[in-house]
Amino acid sequence: MSPAPPNPAAHLPPLPPGSTIGILGGGQLGRMLALAAARLGFDVAILDPHPDPPAGRVAAHLLTAAYDDPAALKALADLSQVVTFEFENVPAAAVERLIAMGASVAPGARALAVAQDRVDEKTFLNGVGVRTVAFAAADTPDAASEAVAQLGAPVLMKTRRDGYDGKGQRWVEHAGDAAAAFAALGAVPVILEAPADFVRELSIIAARSRDGAIAVYPLGENHHEQGVLRRTLAPAQAQAATRTRAERIAAQILSGLDYVGVIGVELFELKDGELLVNEIAPRVHNTGHWTQDGCEVDQFEQHVRAVAGWPLGPTHAIAQVEMLNLLGDEAQGWARYAVEPETRLHLYGKREAKPGRKMGHLNRVKPLTSR
Ligand code: AMP
Repeated sequence: MSPAPPNPAAHLPPLPPGSTIGILGGGQLGRMLALAAARLGFDVAILDPHPDPPAGRVAAHLLTAAYDDPAALKALADLSQVVTFEFENVPAAAVERLIAMGASVAPGARALAVAQDRVDEKTFLNGVGVRTVAFAAADTPDAASEAVAQLGAPVLMKTRRDGYDGKGQRWVEHAGDAAAAFAALGAVPVILEAPADFVRELSIIAARSRDGAIAVYPLGENHHEQGVLRRTLAPAQAQAATRTRAERIAAQILSGLDYVGVIGVELFELKDGELLVNEIAPRVHNTGHWTQDGCEVDQFEQHVRAVAGWPLGPTHAIAQVEMLNLLGDEAQGWARYAVEPETRLHLYGKREAKPGRKMGHLNRVKPLTSR
């Protein structure tokens, strides 16, 4: 993989309030970034292909165009003093074009490219000394069968690109089923992963500033339903050694990518306390929403601070939080949640509730228990 192109933001002074931060993507993460940016006196400019994205209604500027639309990228670059992204499937070419126009982009093209391809991601992780499950790449049905034979069934076959929330993956129980699974995933390049024999899924949200300082939030313990995050409990009960391991992993990744901004790192905790990285998200992350009500500086403000060249804020917990995603119709229970004194409600303003769609979340807050 080619090295990261030099980021022109590296030597700039901190962005003063009143500046504009461009965001590729206008979903709920963009919306919460925009709200955090506003609190620090920044405006945001959103570029999103949809005409009425959740972030659009809280943004100073909304550009409606495809992510790789050259005129829209030029407009975004002209409006913004720094550009960031809120989801990792924006075309890498769009970010490269912005950089070629002289725009400052954080976290940068390399982090995006690594996170977009599961094989490149695991290769990068192993290269910086971070453990993952054993894996193999396959571009053809025959290669997929060979990879299953090599790794030993069962294996999890995933599309290399464009997978999210458990979509684009299936278990292969026998080498003889590999070709059919390959076809069912669309006959696109895949990764085959050995099963992680995990006891828990954890995540760590971390940030790196332009000057290389790193700040790490406490661990979150995550529970999924049908591939979608349902709950995060944070700070997670964990051995001090586990926390230290997770912090080291986050630091290796952030430094390895010369990263600027917030990153989400999904972890498998094994029986012996070892941690494997499942995947990285080069952006603010659903498993970090608890920080909005559990920390003095949440992941959204932290990301804004980092990309604006400000110093990072504190990351210790000031409360125990259960974050619950509100999916589909569940957000209609807002009136019930609003009367719960321990509940902080965060709704995304999405117009249409589809089954499983993330419509909002709530943070149930309790005093911090000593650990
Ligand atoms: P992903 O889309 O890679 O985040 O995977 C979605 C979910 O599938 C994870 O949160 C895990 O619960 C599960 N999963 C992913 N990869 C593996 C693996 N190699 N072994 C076991 N479970 C996995």
